[in-house]
Amino acid sequence: MKRTRANSAKKPGPRKPARKPARKPARQATRGDAVQQAAASGTAGVKGRAAARKAGLLISGDPARVRAILAKLDEAYPNVTSALEYRDAFQLLIATILSAQCTDVRVNEVTRTLFPKYPTPEAFAYANPAELEAAIRPTGFFRNKTKSIMATSKKIVEEFSGAVPRNMEDLLTLPGVARKTANVVLGTAFGIAAGVVVDTHVMRVSARLDLTQETDPRKIEQDLTRLLPKEKWILFAHQLIWHGRRVCIARKPRCMECNLERICYAKDKTV
Ligand code: SF4
Repeated sequence: MKRTRANSAKKPGPRKPARKPARKPARQATRGDAVQQAAASGTAGVKGRAAARKAGLLISGDPARVRAILAKLDEAYPNVTSALEYRDAFQLLIATILSAQCTDVRVNEVTRTLFPKYPTPEAFAYANPAELEAAIRPTGFFRNKTKSIMATSKKIVEEFSGAVPRNMEDLLTLPGVARKTANVVLGTAFGIAAGVVVDTHVMRVSARLDLTQETDPRKIEQDLTRLLPKEKWILFAHQLIWHGRRVCIARKPRCMECNLERICYAKDKTV
């Protein structure tokens, strides 16, 4: 049969594939994604800010990087607090004064017998100095610590009606109490976020994580309070102290065990 234009048009042919619906446009990559990618892309071993920049790692106080650091700390240390043993703000204040240049373990050993013997601020304020010195001797610097403890207790009894002040300004008037101790008492005993505790561990780990380049504790605290959300100030310090004691130790950090390793570019990293 002769093929005409009409019957050839009617002949059933292969069906055209149905048109695919238009794809949704890809989500715009965020800076948080960049941190995640950098963390996942085998940038382990990157050391130093310049190398980190080359490897695509976000550096310094980038908000996405800070959030990534906080998330990793929450993962590793969800509910940490002070290792010092205390019953109230006054005992925490005394324990913190004793913890200068001493381990929390040693302080706890001492305070387990010290606090029952001196149960109130009055008992410390009007103690026999020689007896108090002997009782706290294992914590080191016991003469200076005795002076601070007695003078602080006396001021609390005589000027603050026996109660530890609940604000930074008054706490700083107590002999032997500087910002670190005041932040410990306000944050840990009262839950008041007046600042960030900056001790030797917080100093070292914040520097390794490039959250600060300062060496003065007051300036480090200013950097940290600027970078961190206020609701994280108290927990963050505890997390860094625990991390500094267990993993990011001073001499040879245990970077292989560190969950922050892929977003850390400290020069003294050990991997
Ligand atoms: S342990 Fe190592 S990887 Fe972890 S924060 Fe410290 S220096 Fe960085």
